[in-house]
Amino acid sequence: MKKIIEKLKEKNIKITPQRIAIIEFLMSTKSHPSAEDIYKEISKKYPSMSYATVYNTLITLKNLGEVVELAIDSDKKRFDIDTSLHHHFYCTRCKRVYDLSKNFIIEAISTIDGHNVERTFLNFTGICNKCLKEEKDEQDRKKS
Ligand SMILES: [Zn+2]
Ligand SMILES: [Zn+2]
Repeated sequence: MKKIIEKLKEKNIKITPQRIAIIEFLMSTKSHPSAEDIYKEISKKYPSMSYATVYNTLITLKNLGEVVELAIDSDKKRFDIDTSLHHHFYCTRCKRVYDLSKNFIIEAISTIDGHNVERTFLNFTGICNKCLKEEKDEQDRKKS
């Protein structure tokens, strides 16, 4: 949090309570929200804030390398404040996007060809284990 604020100050970007609220919200969630999701959440507290403020703040943070834009969901761009190397899974049923813990593919590339991978945008799409379990439970209920 402090690091991001320092970076914004260095670039002469005004630190407003709205901007801080956006950063805090991003840090508090693992949901990989879209600009609209963030706007909906923050405007509860700051009703006068515009969608453009949210969007512009996200783009600023992205340009500073503090936020990653994900192209995993074809309906909307999503944002992740966790800029560490990790992959994402998108469930086509519940529309959740979440982090996959393993960086197996990066490890494989790095060791096989000696690359120095700094960024990756590897996205997995499918049905998450939670949805599959619900489906199975539903089937079991019908059987009994
Ligand atoms: Zn799901
Ligand atoms: Zn992520």
